[in-house]
Amino acid sequence: MQPRRLRQPIVVVLGHVDAGKTSLLDRIRGTAVQVREAGGITQHIGASFIPADTLRAICGPLLTQFRFDVTVPGLLFIDTPGHEAFSNLRIRGGSAADIAVLVVDATKGLEPQSHESLEILRSRKVPFLIALNKVDLLSGWTPHPGSPLLESIKSQPKVIVDRLDEAIYRVVGQLSQIGFRSEAFYRVRDFTKEVAIVPVSARTGEGVPELLAILVGLAQQFMRRRLEVAEGPGRGIVIEVKEEPGLGYTANAILIDGELRVGDEVALGTRSGAKVTRIRALLMPKPLDEMRDPRDRFTPVESVSAAAGVKILAPGLEDVVPGTPMYVVAPGRAEELMNAISSEVRSAIRESERM
Ligand code: GDP
Repeated sequence: MQPRRLRQPIVVVLGHVDAGKTSLLDRIRGTAVQVREAGGITQHIGASFIPADTLRAICGPLLTQFRFDVTVPGLLFIDTPGHEAFSNLRIRGGSAADIAVLVVDATKGLEPQSHESLEILRSRKVPFLIALNKVDLLSGWTPHPGSPLLESIKSQPKVIVDRLDEAIYRVVGQLSQIGFRSEAFYRVRDFTKEVAIVPVSARTGEGVPELLAILVGLAQQFMRRRLEVAEGPGRGIVIEVKEEPGLGYTANAILIDGELRVGDEVALGTRSGAKVTRIRALLMPKPLDEMRDPRDRFTPVESVSAAAGVKILAPGLEDVVPGTPMYVVAPGRAEELMNAISSEVRSAIRESERM
């Protein structure tokens, strides 16, 4: 049997306000954009795709050191960090997010919203790592911009390394109080049992190569089955419904499985139940250097394959509820799907009202 195609893991970023979620995402994207010769970055709707070659270029020698290659096609980062975006990625019994980065301020340790994030991650059963951010603020830290953390640590005096260890062990202690075992990633023995803590700086870029390498490693080792793409009708989640000038109501969706094509019938969730509509156009962001007019932001495509963030144009999207599922309707299966969606929509709406 042909091995199934693996899709890229969907990564979300969570954490307390001001922990540096936005800065870290920007740094990751910026680091990826710089390796243009390896393909840089591809902008999706609501997400940024870092292809395998770019990851190889950024992680480079670390992959040799950790002894693995990048076998997933890349990483798809959801562009909006935080609870709300994560909540909208719900699927029955879990999350469409495959893996999460919980950003914790190294100078503060776990804060109230870090605890909230941990509870949601636990209840949705999403594996995660901790990005222990702002290590450049540890007093006496000498920054090595863009360098792997392990390199940077080697050139810090012992007293600074001790200071980093204090910050790490504060978080290890806090996590153990709520039932999570964790360790600095270079001391983790079993990634299935211990949460990896990756010291990083969104300001200097230190630790970003390790962060990416560990995300890839975890995904490849522990979620292969989940990442195997079923060929066939697409399945995804609507994350936002948006009125666009000149286009009317559009739905931004994350496709998790299969394929989505122009002309497909899709079943979507509204407050009054499921509805079926036909896709008129699928839109992806236009590359920045081709965007001449700010109104002309999208490129039409004929189809997209999972995983992808895409904007859907179709009649009747105005009452679609964000955070509800989307299924391509295979011939003869409309009724069955409508029933399944209606019950999922009801539970998704109940859950969003509880938030
Ligand atoms: P968010 O609320 O979690 O998205 O946090 P932001 O990304 O907006 O960052 C909050 C503040 O912390 C901003 O002033 C950032 O410039 C600063 N910041 C974020 N990451 C770092 C870092 O690694 N080092 C330092 N020194 N400052 C940082």
